[in-house]
Amino acid sequence: LNLQLQQSEMLHSVGQLAASVTHEVRNPLAVARGFMQIFQKEKYIPEDKKIFLTMMIEEIDRAQTIISDYLSLVKTNTSKIERLNITELLSSLKGVMYPFALLKGVELVQNGQEEVHVIGDQGKLKQILMNIIKNAIEATPEGGVVTLSAEKGNREIIIHISDTGIGMGREQLRMLGNPFFSTKSTGTGLGLMASYRMAAEMNGRIEATSEVGKGTHFKIIFPE
Ligand code: ADP
Ligand code: MG
Repeated sequence: LNLQLQQSEMLHSVGQLAASVTHEVRNPLAVARGFMQIFQKEKYIPEDKKIFLTMMIEEIDRAQTIISDYLSLVKTNTSKIERLNITELLSSLKGVMYPFALLKGVELVQNGQEEVHVIGDQGKLKQILMNIIKNAIEATPEGGVVTLSAEKGNREIIIHISDTGIGMGREQLRMLGNPFFSTKSTGTGLGLMASYRMAAEMNGRIEATSEVGKGTHFKIIFPE
């Protein structure tokens, strides 16, 4: 028991260390990204060189993603439990993810206005939904749609995220949530694993159905 306690204390400190390192690393990255964006607009930089700036920005974005995917694995469990308005949360996430969807030529829509609530940790739920929405947008070709909605089921709350993307086969569906499972050239394969874990910490679960070439439907289910 003593050893277990020591281990959990150690994990806690590692988590805190990771969180502060992440914070410290993110700021300089954001500053560098900002200057690159400014240079992108400069007239004295030849157009054929600007592609390098775009590549630099993309690489910084990739570094940010890797940092946040790894961080969500070691994050300490200081959860703040409150009553969350899912309809509002989805609408704000739609705003957050809008630029990314626009860039990919994917439409992001929210259906249904019924007020739905979940008891849980806002930070965790945001992270779960962002991971799944981001995957949905990434899987959807230009002109496709990602739809967000929430409903009251039978003693549970169901959040739906569906896309008209490339879909997944049975084998691939089975692999979801496994660490490092990714079909993307620059994927970390950690987003869903962290999401499944955080959903479980909130007494919830995640289910996915999919059809190759048609699209994917994720359900994030919480007790009412
Ligand atoms: P990453 O996004 O870094 O690849 P994730 O854990 O977020 O890692 O996702 C793991 C894998 O699950 C993805 O690489 C992809 O193959 C598959 N996947 C997840 N969501 C979808 C989706 N909406 N449509 C198709 N494939 C998906
Ligand atoms: Mg992902």
